[in-house]
Amino acid sequence: MRVSFFAGLLAAAASAPSLAQPCPADLGRPFGVLNLFDLTAYLDLFQAGSPVADTAEPIGTLNFFDLAAFLDSYLVGCPLDSDGDRIADIHETGNGVYLGPTATGTDPFNPDSDGDGIIDGDEVFGTVEGLDLPAMGALPVIKDIFIECDWFEGFFIGRERNYRPTADSIARVVASFANAPVPNPAPNPNGIAIHLDYGQGGAFTGGNRIPGEPAFVVFGDQFYQYKADHFDPRRKGYFHYAIFASRHSDDTNRSSGIAEINGDDFMVTMVDYLSTNNQSNTIVHELGHNLGLRHGGFENRNYKPNYNSVMNYRHQFPGVDTNGDSRGDGVLDYSRGLNFDLDESSIFEPDGVIGFPIDFDRDGLIDTLPYALNLNCSGTNTSPCGSNADGACADSSCSVLLDFNDWANINWGRLADTADRRPEQEIATCENEPE
Ligand SMILES: [Zn+2]
Repeated sequence: MRVSFFAGLLAAAASAPSLAQPCPADLGRPFGVLNLFDLTAYLDLFQAGSPVADTAEPIGTLNFFDLAAFLDSYLVGCPLDSDGDRIADIHETGNGVYLGPTATGTDPFNPDSDGDGIIDGDEVFGTVEGLDLPAMGALPVIKDIFIECDWFEGFFIGRERNYRPTADSIARVVASFANAPVPNPAPNPNGIAIHLDYGQGGAFTGGNRIPGEPAFVVFGDQFYQYKADHFDPRRKGYFHYAIFASRHSDDTNRSSGIAEINGDDFMVTMVDYLSTNNQSNTIVHELGHNLGLRHGGFENRNYKPNYNSVMNYRHQFPGVDTNGDSRGDGVLDYSRGLNFDLDESSIFEPDGVIGFPIDFDRDGLIDTLPYALNLNCSGTNTSPCGSNADGACADSSCSVLLDFNDWANINWGRLADTADRRPEQEIATCENEPE
């Protein structure tokens, strides 16, 4: 007697849980539709002698009955999956409430309901390559970001150091993203769930110490060799990859990190100024570059007193300003774009950056007449407009400085199966040690 194809394939699926397909005959890409690719995929499995193709009695031999059983299920068809995200429409309940794989709360007509660049089916079932995203906390109705953190420890800069991110650093990063003013499908609250694998155990065993004690790591071939050796390729396209080392580029460099702008790779290099705040702020800063942010938000213009973000060198280590004086108050955050425009050719101190007076020229007074001054020379230093004789200023001109809403402008990219998540075009080198 012939065992039902579905029972057979469900048994096969149980032994290969990574291929959690809702439709048994839907074996080939594109998923969600039955076509000739599924037939080819089945014949490939058949020819390879795969147990997945062994769907009919007698189990243990591949023969005509298996093919007939496959064709039976093929003709029965798949449940409708309008958006091709591997979740049947009848299970995409569209109410934003995730209860389980048969009531996902997702939109049946949007393959990425929460807009985080990860397809709904991958967040519900894990990826077809076998990456178990749900075990790592993914939800299809809350934006998720995944980062693998690999690190060096040993003897650096004259003493024993461990650059592994600490639980305290990670907690600050997680909290700052949880507080993000970034919407999720209703009725879920705002916020981003960020998951950092630094080898803490449970589902997170990908983060690892990299053997060796290199004085520096070049963010190029050397970085990519470490990545090839220590990063599960199934994570490509889903995880950012970060190496925590002493220095990047060369053995005198004191820059805190380096990152791709609109990419998935970065380094955190704390040399000899490692602390919880420096480390967590730098993780968020470098990740910000991956997410498309620059030292001036939308632009490379640095040190803007009204750009209130850890992307800005003024705030990378001190944190963002919470009381309107344009100085860091230890809070880890990106800008929300709330500050006034600041015209350096006509600065009006009573306005400050958000209505609180600021003594920009540090003469001890709140000047009541407008004046011109280059406010984003470097650090908190100022200079006359157009003057940069000694090259001390990152920016010598006087112009209108703009804040930027970082959180609203995160590049969520698009998922590209096994390729990198986004094209990698540009590298940003980041702030030196705190002053
Ligand atoms: Zn930077």
